Amino acid sequence: MAAHRIGIVGLGKIAQDQHLPVIAANPAFELAAVSSTRGLGAGEVPSFRTAGEMLAAVPDLDAVAICTPPQVRYELAREALLAGKHVLLEKPPAATISELAHLQTLAERTGRVLFTTWHSQYNAAVEECARRLADQTVTRLFVDWKEDVRKWHPGQKWIWEAGGFGVFDPGINALSIVTRILPQPAFLRRADLFFPANRDAPIAATLTFDGPDLRAEFDWRQDGGEVWEIAVGTASGQSLKLAAGGVRLEVDGEVVVEEPSAEYAGIYRRFDELLRRGQSLVDPAPFWLVAEAFMLGRRIEVEAFHYDARLAPSR
Ligand code: NAP
Repeated sequence: MAAHRIGIVGLGKIAQDQHLPVIAANPAFELAAVSSTRGLGAGEVPSFRTAGEMLAAVPDLDAVAICTPPQVRYELAREALLAGKHVLLEKPPAATISELAHLQTLAERTGRVLFTTWHSQYNAAVEECARRLADQTVTRLFVDWKEDVRKWHPGQKWIWEAGGFGVFDPGINALSIVTRILPQPAFLRRADLFFPANRDAPIAATLTFDGPDLRAEFDWRQDGGEVWEIAVGTASGQSLKLAAGGVRLEVDGEVVVEEPSAEYAGIYRRFDELLRRGQSLVDPAPFWLVAEAFMLGRRIEVEAFHYDARLAPSR
């Protein structure tokens, strides 16, 4: 089978860090074009200012990977599907639930493959954790997901806009692991959302799920090193911990899986399989939980956030 000719839309951080090198390393794909509103390029392939220009000028593209912020993903994905292209969506897959539902309908109608990627799911430790929990009852869950927004999202404005998800931009990664590993549905019961006085998206959130002791804490105000851990307790008395963002699994204190992260290699392997089978993979579950957090959320105002810490009031 010939390589899938793919175009990338949006040459920001994740496209540069992951999509470009991973596509280059996977013979099932051939980078055929890019579109960049800033006019960036990638090697020798043609570059266009808009996705529309790219679709018109390179009609033999098979697929596009949409690596923009979520607010503009729907229009770009719709345009690509209507042009007959298969579509890979960065996370989160759209700005709203209805947008994603409509993209799914369009993919069915056009007979194209639609793939919602949740990169944190593509870890061997996450797979093993899901396998071990499959026949268990989870009685305890603590998601501890904390990082320094200045380090991980330097100067990014869109994450602070309404629809930019705020701390749920990383938090949805944790939720994509939770929905992958839990053997039972996770029903959200309460959400406390902490909004900086000068921002339209939360800097921290605490979620409580239905069940005896199921919680998540997301926080962007972390000083020092990041914490990306999920601890699970089962009715049979087992304790499992996914650490380092889902790269390491410990069971009752013993490391059982620890492999270097190769999330995007896994994503493109899966995309190749889906393209060969002509099958979409649309997983809305992590997205539902974030939407429900905003639906149920109590808004709590906290001190203003400035990227330049010198502008922040002294404590
Ligand atoms: P980013 O660095 O801000 O890059 C996004 C890029 O999208 C921009 O550089 C721009 O590229 C393009 N873009 C922005 N506004 C646009 C618009 N209105 N229309 C078309 N293109 C537009 O953000 P990012 O960190 O790469 O994140 C992008 C997505 O990937 C987010 O949904 C994020 O959650 C997800 N993600 C990020 C990471 C990470 O570590 N950063 C990890 C996994 C997933 P051009 O100037 O080239 O058009």
